[in-house]
Amino acid sequence: MGKKDLNTGLKLGVDSKWQYSPAPESTSHINLKKKYDLFIDGKWVAPSSGKYFDTINPATEEKIADIAEANEKDVDKAVKAARKAFGPWSKLPAKERAKFIYRIARLIQERAREFSVIESLDGGKAIRESRDVDVPLAAAHFFYNAGWADKLDYAFPGKKPEAIGVAGQIIPWNFPLLMAAWKLAPALACGNTVVLKPAETTPLTALKLAELVQEAGLPDGVVNIVTGAGSTGSSIVNHNDIDKIAFTGSTGVGKIIQKSIVGTNKRATLELGGKAANIIFEDAPIDQAVEGIINGIYFNQGHVCCAGSRLFIEEPVYDQVIRKLKDRINTLIVGDPLDKNTDIGAINSKAQLKTIKDYIKIGKKEGAEFFEGSCSLPSKGFFCKPTLFTGVAQSNKIVQEEIFGPVLAVQTFRSVDEVIKKANNTPYGLSAGVWTDKGSKIFNLTSQMRAGVVWANTYNKFDPASPFGGYKESGFGREGGLHGLSAYLNLN
Ligand code: ADP
Repeated sequence: MGKKDLNTGLKLGVDSKWQYSPAPESTSHINLKKKYDLFIDGKWVAPSSGKYFDTINPATEEKIADIAEANEKDVDKAVKAARKAFGPWSKLPAKERAKFIYRIARLIQERAREFSVIESLDGGKAIRESRDVDVPLAAAHFFYNAGWADKLDYAFPGKKPEAIGVAGQIIPWNFPLLMAAWKLAPALACGNTVVLKPAETTPLTALKLAELVQEAGLPDGVVNIVTGAGSTGSSIVNHNDIDKIAFTGSTGVGKIIQKSIVGTNKRATLELGGKAANIIFEDAPIDQAVEGIINGIYFNQGHVCCAGSRLFIEEPVYDQVIRKLKDRINTLIVGDPLDKNTDIGAINSKAQLKTIKDYIKIGKKEGAEFFEGSCSLPSKGFFCKPTLFTGVAQSNKIVQEEIFGPVLAVQTFRSVDEVIKKANNTPYGLSAGVWTDKGSKIFNLTSQMRAGVVWANTYNKFDPASPFGGYKESGFGREGGLHGLSAYLNLN
């Protein structure tokens, strides 16, 4: 949610819903096929099993397209194509490689509107977010990494940077295009070739990206996109000619992948779950902090590994923050992802909606006090109101476990030591937020937080130059910046 959008929300106020008039984005300019095959060796090929699965629009529950299901044989074909392409691609002068990557970046910008609409149709996120965050940031990752392609010798002085080989990349459903960009751009800039698998509920923008790869004229086999569910991902992980696995997804699957690659020479980066603490001190700019809390947890329906899903409020400002927060929650509009006024779109899938509802039941059973936004929900599709729990205990499941939905658990604190202890007390360590007027508090906190990213007086700010990744069960390795490039290089 950009500042602009947050202001609009504030102006709406609690009792002015009657002013709201839907403004759905047109879908007439988008170009989607009814059936998508696999993108292997520069061509669209049917899956060897002949099987296809549906991708549906989570806001309407209607089918959008048939998507090919890749099995072990198809994955093998894709890996072979990537292996064949690796030699020539990695030996291409780096400035030539960069040109292809710049071309992809520019094509994303040219098709930004189409990509935004498809992302919202397939995944359920509000169009403002697809348009203002996902798509521009995806282009920015290609631009940023293209710029490094011919400067790697300078970036790593004294080393001889070499591409690793064939990268298997498995991405989740919460930021489908953006995660594809995070994975593809540095891998290609360093001279690797790729087999990428999007998540089964959100394959469309990765498949559209394959069309751009063709249009940008990348040599055949440099980028291969295979679709399917967990078993397709597993075939990639276990293929013996893959050199590097890059995975973003759940901690559960991350652990399976870790076990599968023990004893092999495969390198891995794993970006897994989170349960971030968003910490509000009494000297914080409270209105700004409330916006940061809203953005932290309800952005992208809460389907964000770095979501600020635990809120810690210093006791003296507890009542004030909660009052403002509840008022602000009541202004949020949940509904049609294609509507430009929508704040919270559709939950990505029926299964994820059930997971979120189960956690809400657990929270209530654990004795926490429940609050939800006053908005109405569409009658069809998978939707969930913005919710918050107060009066939670540190040991509660809704405090310890990642929900990946619009559910906020609120606690209070009296001292810096107490809040650091509580904030660090989950299995995760991906991100955190701190809101205070005092720079010294920020530095004290950031140095003691076991979190890969700590935002101060802001939240959910991303930049291709910033490394991103976690401690503990949030995974290992960093994506973004030079750290992200080094994950695709042998630096001898
Ligand atoms: P979620 O539980 O939130 O759906 P997952 O971690 O299951 O997240 O999914 C992230 C990505 O990992 C998806 O592309 C999914 O298909 C893939 N995946 C799921 N299971 C496996 C597995 N055993 N091995 C490799 N990839 C997998």
